[in-house]
Parts: sequence; C-alpha cells; structure tokens
Amino acid sequence: MDTYALPDARSEATVAAHDDGTWPVTEDVAALRTAIANLFFYGRPGAGDRKWVLIDAGIPGSAAWIESAARARFGRRSRPSCVVLTHGHFDHVGALHTLADHWDVPIYAHPLELPYLDGREAYPPPDPTVGGGAMARMSPLYPRGPYDFSRRLRPLPADGSVPGMPGWRWILSSGHSPGHVALFRDADRTLLAGDAFVTTKQESMTAVLQWRPEVNGPPAYFTQDWAAARRSVEALAALEPDAVGTGHGPPLHGEAMRAALRMLARDFDLLALPEDGRYVRSPAVFDEQGVVSVPPPVLDPVTLFAGLGLVALAGLAIGTALNRRS
Ligand SMILES: [Zn+2]
Ligand SMILES: [Zn+2]
Repeated sequence: MDTYALPDARSEATVAAHDDGTWPVTEDVAALRTAIANLFFYGRPGAGDRKWVLIDAGIPGSAAWIESAARARFGRRSRPSCVVLTHGHFDHVGALHTLADHWDVPIYAHPLELPYLDGREAYPPPDPTVGGGAMARMSPLYPRGPYDFSRRLRPLPADGSVPGMPGWRWILSSGHSPGHVALFRDADRTLLAGDAFVTTKQESMTAVLQWRPEVNGPPAYFTQDWAAARRSVEALAALEPDAVGTGHGPPLHGEAMRAALRMLARDFDLLALPEDGRYVRSPAVFDEQGVVSVPPPVLDPVTLFAGLGLVALAGLAIGTALNRRS
C-alpha cells in the first residue's frame, strides 16, 4: 500500500491507496494514476454495469490497466454509462479509442473542445520554453491530435448538468485548453479540476515521478491563454472545495489545500505565469470551429543550439562520407 505526505502538517498526514490501486477523492470518486496523468472513477465500489462514469482516459497504452482497475472497483463486465472529458490533451484521451470500442459508450466534452476531438483540428503547438523542467522540454514530442471520436462524441448538456453524475455541474475553465471543464458537486464541495490547476509540478520530471503534492498552475507547456487560465483558477478557488482531484498529482483535501489554492489564485502571476513564452506574449484564439489564430514561436536557445549541433553533425557525417568515396 502506497502513501504520500500531504503538503502541510496540519492536514490529515497521509492518505493511502485503495487495494485496487486507485486513490480516494471521496467515497464515490477515486483517482487512477496512469504514469504521468490521472483519470477518475465516479460511482460507489461494486456499482455494476452502466452505473458509473469515467472522467478522462489516461495516457496512450493504458487501456488494459484502466479496464482492470474498473473491474476491480465496479465488478466484472461493468461498463461505464459514459465518459466525460475535462479536455482532449493526449494524456487525457490516450486510451479512449480502445475503451470506447470495448465499452460502447458516449463521450461528452465542451463544445469549444469538440474540434480537437472530432478529427477537425490539432491543438496548437506546445511551448517548451516555459516551466523549466524536462516534461516541458519534451513537450514538442507529445501528440496533439487531431483525434477523431466523432461517432461517439456529444456536447455536454447546455444546462450545466453532467450526464450520469446527478448533483454535479460542469464549469467552463478555459485557458489550459479552449473548452476545458472542471466538475463540481456542491453538496460536499468535491472538485475535479482537470488541468485548470494541478497538484504536482507537472513541468518537472522528478516531481511527476514522485507524485510530489503541491498546488500549482496548469501544466505550462500546453497552456495557451494565460489570462483565461488565471480567471479559471480564481473561479475554482472561489468554490472553496473540500476535496480536489486534478489531472496531475495526488488528490488533496481540507484547509491546507484550500489555503494553497487561494494563494495560487491571489498570486497567480507570481506563482504560475511564466516570465516569458509564446502564449504569455499573446494568447492563441479559439472559437467553436477551432483555432482562429496562434502567436509566432519565441526564440528557444535550447532548440536553437540542439538544431545547430545537429546541422554540424550532419555536415561532419557528409564530409566523412565524401572523403571516403574520393
Ligand atoms: Zn492538459
Ligand atoms: Zn494533463
């Protein structure tokens, strides 16, 4: 059984994983960690077929892992009633094709997110210069679509309700992605925040591997409208959640988490906004049809030097080959 220390000695010290490998958010919400990203099961243990909901769908290659955790939690041959996406980044839809085929389920997302999920558009390029960690540096290698789930894709209900999750509402929290949503249940103030803010430092490989708990802004390399991202954090902090599950990092609870979240909202520019970067200078602009405009890339010294190094190596190789021939 794994444990992790909460970020503040005043909080409940440690929380342990369930035997099925998931981590409790509340009695009826559990997080499953797929290497670098979390997904969530909504529904009581043993709920049975079509009596639960999957929120997000893990990294590529994690389908068998997710299905086995779902079987352990909800019972053999128990399929969800639907899948709800907080957004469509690769680490949140990685297993979705396989799972949706196996389970034959509808997939819900916000209308502003649909163009990247129905085959129309790829997300604009990430910015590897922000955040300063290895996860950020590698971000140009991450897939960014377009994904095509159009056969099963549906817009979230306009009345704010969440299919299969009575008592919950979705909250548009764009900035990290155009149609990003968080899910909130007022009765016990449970918040599934997606990547609007996260509970580890996602740009840093060591923090990600250790699942080190800390309240942070959205993963910077994929965030493409920072003013919107700030407003989203302010709105979610104002909900004063009691339990929080995010796309990256462990679930957190109680006043220590709330205080950290309030501080993030208050000092967002200091704590989360990168000093400079492609989307810091000006945001990407989106509408319901997809990408409207993308700002030009910023000069990236690391890529530049790596590129120059490659050119020099290629020159050397060609020179050697020519010498051999002559
Ligand atoms: Zn994301
Ligand atoms: Zn993510």
